[in-house]
Amino acid sequence: MSAAVEKEDIKSLVDGLNFRQKVDRSLGLIREAHEEFGDRLVVANSLGKDSIVVWHLAKRIRAGIRGFIVTTRFKPRETVTFMNDMCKRYPELEVFQSDEAIPERLYEDNPDLCCELLKVQPTRRAIKEMNAACWVTGLRCTEGRTRTDFLEIEERDVGLLKLNPILIWHEREVWEYLALHQAPVNPLYAKGYRSLGCGPCTRIASGPEERAGRWIGTSKCGGECGIHTRSLKVDYQI
Ligand code: SF4
Repeated sequence: MSAAVEKEDIKSLVDGLNFRQKVDRSLGLIREAHEEFGDRLVVANSLGKDSIVVWHLAKRIRAGIRGFIVTTRFKPRETVTFMNDMCKRYPELEVFQSDEAIPERLYEDNPDLCCELLKVQPTRRAIKEMNAACWVTGLRCTEGRTRTDFLEIEERDVGLLKLNPILIWHEREVWEYLALHQAPVNPLYAKGYRSLGCGPCTRIASGPEERAGRWIGTSKCGGECGIHTRSLKVDYQI
């Protein structure tokens, strides 16, 4: 793919492009990836606002584009209902979940291991079973301290490209796009959440960081589950 830019350029694009230019850039990135990978391009859908934008953008490139959702036994009721609605509307969305037996409160004692088992491993399975050569995510560099160093196109695993087509969007631009296209969103946003995850590990938080409500009270606070930081081709030992 030719549209890759370096880290410093990414920072200048965040405030250097207007909303319209960002939408066009995102569409261009997905179009180019789709031309290169065809059916081997799949879209990850976390059921959060950013994923809904990416899903909508991808559908503008090709209506039948495939996607996957990784869910866990700890997702809030609202997210499960929203997921079921999305899957009814888009049968090309596949759901992956781990049913592995784990200690009841592993999310308190070892949230890294809990995320590895319930989120990262099912993501690896999705990539493998869908035969993906490129996966598309809704990651944005303005979401919080752990997301500032990503690129629009990453190759963390050999043979698996990761595309972050809305990397340079601000939070308000995500909401602008969703409002303009009247896209349905997870009802938890109306309750005050800014970043969504599993029930036990997600709180409504104030402050500037969008992900501040994730894993509050643990070493992982405001951090990552691992799907954006660990290998998706090789099993990882915690
Ligand atoms: S977000 Fe919490 S409950 Fe969900 S997989 Fe990670 S540690 Fe476990």
